[in-house]
Amino acid sequence: MSIRVVLGQDLREANELEAAENRELFGKHGIVVLNLIGAPGAGKTSLLEKTISALKTDFHLGVLEGDIYTTRDAERIAKCGVEVVQINTRGACHLDASLVRKAALQLPLKELDAILVENVGNLVCPAEFDIGETAKVAVLSVAEGDDKVEKYPLVFRESKAVLINKMDLLPLMDGFDLGRMERELKQVNGSLRVFKVSTRTGEGLEEWYSWVRELVRESKRV
Ligand code: MG
Ligand code: ZN
Repeated sequence: MSIRVVLGQDLREANELEAAENRELFGKHGIVVLNLIGAPGAGKTSLLEKTISALKTDFHLGVLEGDIYTTRDAERIAKCGVEVVQINTRGACHLDASLVRKAALQLPLKELDAILVENVGNLVCPAEFDIGETAKVAVLSVAEGDDKVEKYPLVFRESKAVLINKMDLLPLMDGFDLGRMERELKQVNGSLRVFKVSTRTGEGLEEWYSWVRELVRESKRV
């Protein structure tokens, strides 16, 4: 009996095809899809809550919540009054295009302007899997230390924007070199938009909202 082996490389190639189909589906409906990627505790769900309350009067938003087992984040998002679908990966540490498609088809796609996707809390493999998004958005927090750009360059290379969250905690972070982090981000990806924010105090969030608004308006113009 022969045993078939599927290598990671093949899985990623299959994923590319599914991602292209997703992109076509989202494009057909004029939906901007943001894929939020960050470590556990960086503040992805808090960022979603703030972003939804700032933008939901202007746009119809849907949310896909990636999580390994629980529905805790989806319950938080449902309280914001938008359509949310939970994706439980049952152990997998990232979302892939086919999971996202299944979940997205449960949203009222005809009515939506944008879908915000919270990927599984992880800075590594979510960056390798295209889900058919308009843009990947990396979420960091100063509480994680200032070495993440060097350690996990792929996510910053693949993203169109990065949020450096928990700026209100910066005075407590001895030795955190924000200037170095910003220089490293520029080296890895010269066109990356960098937003320095605090989801707790609201600092810096207006610029982020404007960036999202502009992306959605651009997608309407084409
Ligand atoms: Mg979360
Ligand atoms: Zn993974």
